[in-house]
Amino acid sequence: MTLREIHAQTRRCRRCHLHKTRLNVVPGEGSSNAKVMFVGEAPGAEEDKSGRPFVGRSGELLTEMLEEIGLQRESVFITSVLKCRPPRNRTPLVSEIEACIPYLHRQIEAINPRIIVLLGGVAISSVIGPWKLSDAHGRFYEHDGRTFFMTYHPAAALRFPKIRTVMRSDMQALREELSMSGG
Ligand code: SF4
Repeated sequence: MTLREIHAQTRRCRRCHLHKTRLNVVPGEGSSNAKVMFVGEAPGAEEDKSGRPFVGRSGELLTEMLEEIGLQRESVFITSVLKCRPPRNRTPLVSEIEACIPYLHRQIEAINPRIIVLLGGVAISSVIGPWKLSDAHGRFYEHDGRTFFMTYHPAAALRFPKIRTVMRSDMQALREELSMSGG
């Protein structure tokens, strides 16, 4: 299945009740040949309005951090576990994650990235399983035949300067891995 087909499916999706409150579905954007894929938690208000992922303030910080390690936003693929915004940005429910995660798995199959970066606890627990973020961050992890890298969500980095520093250092580890594996 192509990315375009997967994204068309999400736009028609009514698999969970978030379809009733969304303004737009936010399937994700970027290169269909991306070597690196970034997975956040769920769209926020700005993303819901625009239909684009990571366009609010945390998106600006993510874009800045990508550029710091030599990655252009257009060259990677950016998405989240949920494709529709939970009301008032509350934490996604398990039932919502279960309903939506097949789309993420299809996106991973279609793009076949070298590294999948999980941003924050919800992305980590939804894709890999429960793992304390303070232990998980900065690590590469092989799971289901794929390579994952775990770090904080940029929204947390935006709120807490200490997390911002740690996340920047995690991103340097990602840069080193990418340069060792040829880009
Ligand atoms: S969050 Fe996912 S499962 Fe729920 S309606 Fe949106 S696309 Fe469908």
